[in-house]
Amino acid sequence: MSVTSRVGVALLGATGSIGTSALRVLERQRERFTPVALTAYGNHVALASQVKQFAPDYVGLVQECPDAPASWGRGAECLVEAATHPDAQIVINAVVGAAGLPATLAALQAGKRVALANKETLVMAGELVTRAAAQHGGSLVPVDSEHSAILQCLAGRERHEIRRLVLTASGGPFRSWSSEQIAAATVDDALKHPTWQMGSKITIDSATLANKALEVIEAHHLFGVPYDRIDVVVHPQSIIHSFVEFVDGSVLAQMGVPSMELPILYALTWPERVQDNGVPSYDPVAQGALTFEAVRHAEFPMLRLGIAAGRQGGAAPAVYNAANEVAVARFLDGNLRFAGIANCVASAVSSLGHMPGDSLDALLAADAAARAHVQAHPGES
Ligand code: NDP
Ligand code: MG
Repeated sequence: MSVTSRVGVALLGATGSIGTSALRVLERQRERFTPVALTAYGNHVALASQVKQFAPDYVGLVQECPDAPASWGRGAECLVEAATHPDAQIVINAVVGAAGLPATLAALQAGKRVALANKETLVMAGELVTRAAAQHGGSLVPVDSEHSAILQCLAGRERHEIRRLVLTASGGPFRSWSSEQIAAATVDDALKHPTWQMGSKITIDSATLANKALEVIEAHHLFGVPYDRIDVVVHPQSIIHSFVEFVDGSVLAQMGVPSMELPILYALTWPERVQDNGVPSYDPVAQGALTFEAVRHAEFPMLRLGIAAGRQGGAAPAVYNAANEVAVARFLDGNLRFAGIANCVASAVSSLGHMPGDSLDALLAADAAARAHVQAHPGES
């Protein structure tokens, strides 16, 4: 393949866990893809070294930084500039949090494929995002491993052939802890994820199971399946990435060693598959038993709270998401107990979940109100 026929990729959040995994994939697949735009929030040193390696046409850093070259884009607008770069056919959105929404919308409005890791975008504004994709010819392809698994199991089947989606959850570091142990969990405890190496926000979301609630809402929007036909099962080995049960009772699952490089590559090449040797083969004998458990909802209230916010609709999912972002930041800063995350989020959803959510401005207002609510919340129930 010649250089000119390579597919241009804009990578937002290049310095993060997904961002650096994506660059490993892009480096291996350099015959097919070329990074044309890279952005980071504040880590200009890591970004500069990526720029040296990949020589993208556009570079953006959100935070003001005196050491950043004058040629780099700056401010939050740099995400939209990168996402709408004329040479980018695919935009990998690997930014964390609601900050990724304007770039997702802009890329879809420009008719691009968005390889979406930034699940908060779909939770906050699922209808606006899916409508933008439908109206402007863009497409939304999940990077999240569960949703990539579902997409692979569906492989072109029609929506009416789906009986049920089953998302798997590792259960996080507190899967077998008692309520008392969980209530006393420290930041270090919560950051020790058993099967995945990820950024700190999603690692805490995996410990509370908020991540699985965000994923249920994400699945609802991506695949158009109602909430009462999306289930969650705990699968501690993280080998089966999700299941689809079809109307005839047959169940398909997608499996593989836990590495985000697989779903990142698939989001780039979907619906095709390409040769890639970046991830070790799955060895069923060496791996041994694959086990499944029911979710312990009483110990992990963030899962039910989030699914209820999704069912409520309107601004409720945006409130849940924003409240969770602030509560997690407070927990990571040592300003909130682990159990305080659910207290803050429950309080925000019950006070603000009824706010209007029918436009981008309305959702942004609900997001801001939820952030202020949690900043001011004492954290106790
Ligand atoms: P990280 O915290 O590791 O990385 C986040 C990236 O986004 C960094 O490049 C960071 O820049 C940048 N960033 C942070 N805040 C902002 C902001 N306000 N505006 C613009 N850029 C920002 O996160 P992850 O890679 O773990 O996660 C990214 C997204 O992918 C999340 O939505 C997460 O839920 C999702 N995801 C992650 C998985 C994983 O395995 N990590 C799995 C499935 C989904 P800087 O480095 O300069 O701070
Ligand atoms: Mg996931």
